[in-house]
Amino acid sequence: MKFNPSDIGDEIVSMSGTLPGETLDLKEQGIRTDGEIAYRLTIQREEETLIVLGKLQTKLQLQCGRCLDWIPWPIEIDDFCVTFEPPLATSIDLTENVREDIILRLPLRAACELDAEHRCPRSGKSYPPKDAVETPMQGGDVWQSLDKLKIKE
Ligand SMILES: [Zn+2]
Repeated sequence: MKFNPSDIGDEIVSMSGTLPGETLDLKEQGIRTDGEIAYRLTIQREEETLIVLGKLQTKLQLQCGRCLDWIPWPIEIDDFCVTFEPPLATSIDLTENVREDIILRLPLRAACELDAEHRCPRSGKSYPPKDAVETPMQGGDVWQSLDKLKIKE
């Protein structure tokens, strides 16, 4: 998933394709890939800076923190953004940026949503209502936390 900065002139360059799910190199337990990573990006030059913007899409499976079943976990990122300042390499590989961006948006802990009878829709196991149902932490929260960090600086 490389491009050459010298190919980016005044025109916006589009780049799209797929990467194998294994690119994510997931080592943590309770998470696995379930398909390719599709990307649709544009690269543009603003003076000496290169700006890459676009969308990423992939499918993962997360293990339910409650009953250990695997839950399909689609990921859609529509604000992928990386900038490159000089000195620019002759060839820039975006694979690691894509990997990091997806991993940043993963929840810290996933749990299935129980149905009205407090059963896991996948395993059928029943959980009494006393168990507080924790909402899985979505990527948005991660960004909010990051934003707060930035304000503190
Ligand atoms: Zn479950």
